Amino acid sequence: LNDVNVVGGGLAGSEAAWQLAQLGFTVHLFEMRPKTMTPAHVSGKFGELVCSNSLGSTLGLAPATLLKDEMRLLDSLIIKAGESARVPAGSALAVDREAFSQGITEVLEDHPNIVIHHEVVSEILSGPTVIATGPLTHESLTEAISDLVGAKMLSFFDAAAPIVLAESVDMNHAFWGSREGNQDYLNCPLTKDEYMAFYDALIHAEQHMGHDFESATFFEGCLPIEELARRGVKTPLYGPMKPIGLENPFEQGRRPYAVVQLRRDNAAGSLMSLVGFQTNLRWGEQKRVFGLIPALHDAEFVRYGVMHRNTYLKSPAILRPTLNAKVREDLWFAGQMTGVEGYVESAATGIMVARYIAQWLEHGNIQPFPRDTMMGALAYYITHTDPEHFQPMNANFGLLNLPPEIQQIHDKKARRRWLRDRALSSLKDYLEHIGVEVSHHETR
Ligand code: FAD
Repeated sequence: LNDVNVVGGGLAGSEAAWQLAQLGFTVHLFEMRPKTMTPAHVSGKFGELVCSNSLGSTLGLAPATLLKDEMRLLDSLIIKAGESARVPAGSALAVDREAFSQGITEVLEDHPNIVIHHEVVSEILSGPTVIATGPLTHESLTEAISDLVGAKMLSFFDAAAPIVLAESVDMNHAFWGSREGNQDYLNCPLTKDEYMAFYDALIHAEQHMGHDFESATFFEGCLPIEELARRGVKTPLYGPMKPIGLENPFEQGRRPYAVVQLRRDNAAGSLMSLVGFQTNLRWGEQKRVFGLIPALHDAEFVRYGVMHRNTYLKSPAILRPTLNAKVREDLWFAGQMTGVEGYVESAATGIMVARYIAQWLEHGNIQPFPRDTMMGALAYYITHTDPEHFQPMNANFGLLNLPPEIQQIHDKKARRRWLRDRALSSLKDYLEHIGVEVSHHETR
């Protein structure tokens, strides 16, 4: 069997290395820490969690639960390590971060098929290779990647607005239309009193402290909404909350005092982003403050706004649906670099890539994960979205296609149960089809 290089021993690289090693490949795992550190990591351990210690919800019908259940079927190292290091945290799978990364490190160090190299990789290695160097990729490798795919194909800073599930927007307080006269935006109007309450909450809300390296000087065109608001009570009204050209059908066609516009974030229109609302507010604060917008009082946030350093590829332009580069078939990318967002999402791409490499090396072709699984839907999203507006994405139910007959079902839980059951059965069929023995690790 061939040797495979895995560069980066974070969430995605550790998972990919373990999966490949379990499949019998000899894996060369390259990790620059502890000799060379990133601005966020503090140890030389594999699978270090740089911020929160949560691997997401375990509630029955949460998208993060489905993603973890799918990964369990594939014997995920990250999920097993998470369960072994679990600490009580209500419905979240939270972990003792040291025990978690220590567990992963021991497994990888003890594996007979894994050769560990603690060094910075500064060029793209030859032979089957996975690059999983994360949002804080060393700059020498960033340069090499940019030489390979083109500088315009890499983003270095993530300034993203929140995304909500379209079905959770209250249509009694929202209307379609645009300042240009088409129907492209879903407009969420505010009266003067509602705007003033929102404004006050916005400028006083708690922000992410950020790490030192994130004390960003913002580009003018990309100011966080709360920074913009601090410039003056009316400033947002001349910016993203401008009401000009919009007529509120709930108010006899009068112009609203202020408007928040939502734009479709995927072709199906199941995800909507808040236009111009990139923000550095804490996640809980985003829910509270943006929930003051009447149409969003019950909105379900599938991705919160973020502003931090984040090296990621314009994947829709440069990756194949099977996560290997269009310019080099034996070069895969995994983790946050591909434009997924989150620890578990990153690890999930590590699993997919390992399965793809195995198929490619053994049969010369690859069957992508089905789109109706959470893993397959994430991979589909990052390789098929409009590259110009591409921003990282968490696991969420808006990524899974709902057939019309299921869209008719009003009960959200029933719809989700249907999606979850379809995803798990589809994944089992897929694994059987590609000849993988399904892990007996229990799913919930
Ligand atoms: P990483 O886990 O960062 O792993 C990449 C590895 O590659 C690192 O170990 C690094 O040392 C190594 N490396 C880099 N360059 C080289 C090189 N040239 N040669 C060799 N090794 C190299 N997600 C969440 O779900 N919850 C959070 O709370 C959260 N907080 C975050 C906070 C910050 C500051 C950042 C930047 C991201 C955060 N994320 C969070 C997003 C994301 O989930 C994590 O960054 C996650 O660790 C990504 O996994 P990964 O495997 O892609 O990258």
